[in-house]
Amino acid sequence: MQFEEYRNLWVFVETEENTAKSVGYELLSPGRVLADKMGGKLVAVVIGGNVKDVAEKTIDYGADEVILVEGDEYFNYSTDAYSYAMKTLVEKYKPSTILIGATNNGRDLGPKMACDLNTGLTADCTMLDYDTETGNMIWTRPAFGGNLMAMILCPDNRPQLGTVRPGIFKKPEPVTGKIGTMIYEDIHIAPENIRTKLLDRIKEVAEAVNLEEAEIIVSGGRGVGSPEGFEIIRRLAEELNATVGASRAVVDAGWMPHAHQVGQTGKTVSPKLYIACGISGAIQHSAGITGSDCIVAINKDEEAPIFDVADYGIVGDLFTVIPELIKEIQKL
Ligand code: FAD
Repeated sequence: MQFEEYRNLWVFVETEENTAKSVGYELLSPGRVLADKMGGKLVAVVIGGNVKDVAEKTIDYGADEVILVEGDEYFNYSTDAYSYAMKTLVEKYKPSTILIGATNNGRDLGPKMACDLNTGLTADCTMLDYDTETGNMIWTRPAFGGNLMAMILCPDNRPQLGTVRPGIFKKPEPVTGKIGTMIYEDIHIAPENIRTKLLDRIKEVAEAVNLEEAEIIVSGGRGVGSPEGFEIIRRLAEELNATVGASRAVVDAGWMPHAHQVGQTGKTVSPKLYIACGISGAIQHSAGITGSDCIVAINKDEEAPIFDVADYGIVGDLFTVIPELIKEIQKL
């Protein structure tokens, strides 16, 4: 059989400043199922500064084996150090499949590894399966702006690489006392071969926005016209004790922070009441709101697709409709 020497399923458990990113643990859930299907072991690969406790945790989360690589050069992510370590490990152990979280770093590491190892990579997967007849992974990911799901195979090369979106899979329930094997690998890269240097880390002060838990959401779209125009959305939200949401057009324009974005690349919400103001209702926005109990749309274009998913629609200028609404609410 072709690729006979390639065995086992690896999960790359990303760490940063000695702490694991949650997606690494999450991937151990589908990893377990896939490894069993392929008749191989579930192996976690943990690279970092001082991350033995992360490695031990992966065994609690179901890994049969952990390969641990530690060193100062791995305390923070760098393309050169991490891809060198991964290439060295892959050439030694020959895994059949590697799952990597589609974080910023994972999205950097995956393509570099695919290049170094002359293999394929399926980016941003949302579903994973394994074909026992052909030995190929079946990677599924949204394509054409989420309008269809593409199934992608990598039949001619090994290992098969895929990045997987965070939050798609649930972390496995930890089992304390599980026995697993810890393999220490002493891999280091000469400092002159690391071409980038982390100079500073500026953390974004994220506003606390809990759209997923909100009972009422008032969202604004490009129809509000400007950052100042958003004030009217905030006023209505205040009256209703609601959380403020936004379309991607608004976020891309810099009128609202990304934490407020609703939709395919933002938050999926399920409030009791969702009020969409000046939002056209593109499929990527609607995908995130269909779990709402009641959707009210305010739009001046009666043909806007938002009216197809709305329970109640108001055709009109939001700058006229919303003040009227506020007046009525204040009478209650
Ligand atoms: P527009 O489409 O420009 O609509 C503005 C609407 O406001 C129009 O319908 C107009 O009639 C109405 N309007 C204008 N003035 C007024 C007024 N005074 N009163 C009342 N109505 C008025 N979008 C998201 O929202 N969330 C996502 O997560 C997301 N993910 C995406 C992922 C991908 C891969 C891609 C390709 C796109 C994604 N998009 C997402 C973008 C999406 O396709 C749309 O471009 C976006 O939702 C449009 O935002 P909008 O409705 O605010 O703007």
